[in-house]
Amino acid sequence: MSNVLNWQLGREMDYPYEAAYPDHQFAFVFNINRCIGCQSCTMACKSTWTFGKGQEYMWWNNVETKPYGGYPHHWDVKTLDLLERSHPGGQTWGGKTEDRKGPYGQFNGKTIFEAAQTHVGPEGANRALGYLPTDEEWSAPNRYEDHPVGSEKGVKGQYFKGGESLPTHKTWFFYLARICNHCSYPACLAACPRNAIYKRPEDGIVLIDQERCRGYRKCLEACPYKKSLYRGTTRTSEKCIGCYPRVEGRDSQGGGRPMQTRCMAACIGHIRLQGLVELNPDGTWKENRYNPLYYLIHVAKVALPLYPQFGTEPNGYYLPPRWVPRPYLQQMFGPGVDAAVEKYSAPDRELLAVMQLFGKDHRICFRYEIKEGPKVFETEVRGKKFEMYNDTILGYAKDGTKVIETTVEEPLHVRPDQHANSI
Ligand code: SF4
Ligand code: SF4
Repeated sequence: MSNVLNWQLGREMDYPYEAAYPDHQFAFVFNINRCIGCQSCTMACKSTWTFGKGQEYMWWNNVETKPYGGYPHHWDVKTLDLLERSHPGGQTWGGKTEDRKGPYGQFNGKTIFEAAQTHVGPEGANRALGYLPTDEEWSAPNRYEDHPVGSEKGVKGQYFKGGESLPTHKTWFFYLARICNHCSYPACLAACPRNAIYKRPEDGIVLIDQERCRGYRKCLEACPYKKSLYRGTTRTSEKCIGCYPRVEGRDSQGGGRPMQTRCMAACIGHIRLQGLVELNPDGTWKENRYNPLYYLIHVAKVALPLYPQFGTEPNGYYLPPRWVPRPYLQQMFGPGVDAAVEKYSAPDRELLAVMQLFGKDHRICFRYEIKEGPKVFETEVRGKKFEMYNDTILGYAKDGTKVIETTVEEPLHVRPDQHANSI
């Protein structure tokens, strides 16, 4: 085992290989508050990459309803439970928040790599603590869709008034959209006995070499997010490839410029923003104040990693849903939840403008710029003053071309009468 810096945990951790970081890292931010569970992302991915024989049950992108749903069923609860059993009561956070090297404080518990060393199964010690889901668990990817959880039961025939008042709802669910996190310390890669999995030095996308893979499914067992999947017809494992031809700028629609993946581009809820971020030699993010992902994750700190305590340093970040009870969110996104929800609930001028970049163009935005506009609205949000300015936000592609120009106030289009009741 080597010692590597996991900045999301604010400390070094054990990992089976020496640290090696790409120049740029594929990363993305999903705003859960906006997801409507339409599954356009899921179908965009399926119709592009997994429509072949043997891939019928395979969903590289999936959207599940929390708290009960999951693909495979209960993937997160099972891994959390394994970790808790290997380190009872110790999976906690502490320490102080430090800029880029520990923005969420320090994780006191054990990661899946650390817990594996003391959790020796019949086959000996594994490189990561995990489990192999059953065939049944991979079936029905959207079970429990729209099933809420609630502490109080309503009265039949009466509108339940207490269920939906903020700051957190008593009756709640939310949609969690997921793809492979192209982790900085991938558990799938660590566990592969054939060295068939590699992380690309140019963009950090994690791929499985289909020539080398023998289908041992060690990656399925190790990945805590269960984003490596087995294909019976080829007897190999497959996973999300980060639409790398698009990211490389080889999709004809992008005019040679890096493009966002199919799932990001198809999202009609405009919840997704994908980027390529530059890394320092120690794996932390290079300061880049006007890169939208850098701003959301390191400056505004409204986007948080999914289950950072697993230890893979996932590159998928989420704006937590503001109506969900905080303990549930803290378990899922770590200690940054309260500050993130507060900031998002009454966003400042810059955050409100940056939020407009989501879903506006298929090409990857590397830099943004804001042109100030007039104040158009003001109110109070839970005791805090909120002001809205109709600023213009500009987004630029890798080569400096302007690809986005939009305003905070969305234009209103009124259809003429002759089109009434038509679509
Ligand atoms: S999410 Fe899973 S499959 Fe994807 S890189 Fe991380 S460990 Fe590997
Ligand atoms: S397309 Fe967007 S809004 Fe629809 S389910 Fe996927 S992530 Fe959510």
